[in-house]
Amino acid sequence: MSATPTLERPEPTAETDTLPTTADACPTCDGALVDGQGLVACTDCDWTGLYE
Ligand SMILES: [Zn+2]
Repeated sequence: MSATPTLERPEPTAETDTLPTTADACPTCDGALVDGQGLVACTDCDWTGLYE
């Protein structure tokens, strides 16, 4: 069988940063955040985390 592309889905771990649901800026660089399926990613740096 040929290899099928797999979606890279980040899995929350104990090391995953969390931020308050009221936060609207990256805790690291104050950049804009993108919320996708519970996972939050910064558009300016590589920070990712979860809303508490
Ligand atoms: Zn950032």
